[in-house]
Amino acid sequence: MDCLFCKIVAGEIPAHKVYEDDKFIAFLDIKPVNPGHALIIPKAHYRNLFDMPSDLMSELGPLIKKIALAVKEATKAEGINIGWNNEPAAGQLIYHSHTHIMPRFVGDGFEHWHGKTEPTSEEFAKLATDIKKNLLES
Ligand SMILES: [Zn+2]
Repeated sequence: MDCLFCKIVAGEIPAHKVYEDDKFIAFLDIKPVNPGHALIIPKAHYRNLFDMPSDLMSELGPLIKKIALAVKEATKAEGINIGWNNEPAAGQLIYHSHTHIMPRFVGDGFEHWHGKTEPTSEEFAKLATDIKKNLLES
């Protein structure tokens, strides 16, 4: 498979690895938002969040915290963003699931995405209802 991140897992392409276990690796993003920006990826190939099995997701959660704390300490970051781009509309560029751990500093200029739209209270209520209807058992 012609996948950049599978090649990193296989050791065919070098990366600055910061963590490895039997199911995941983490390495530094080559185009960091701030220095120390790391990516956590499953060793097995999944496109993104949507096709990752739930048991793997439950192992990823604690690992996100572990890496985020290590990045925060190492970079003396004042905050950490966790990012996950799923599908092109959300800015996904590499189609091998990856979670961004992004160190943040006050005034670093990285734009926040909150507050770009202003749904009415009726729209909020309909959205909440529609999302609850679509919750999947997994
Ligand atoms: Zn892959």
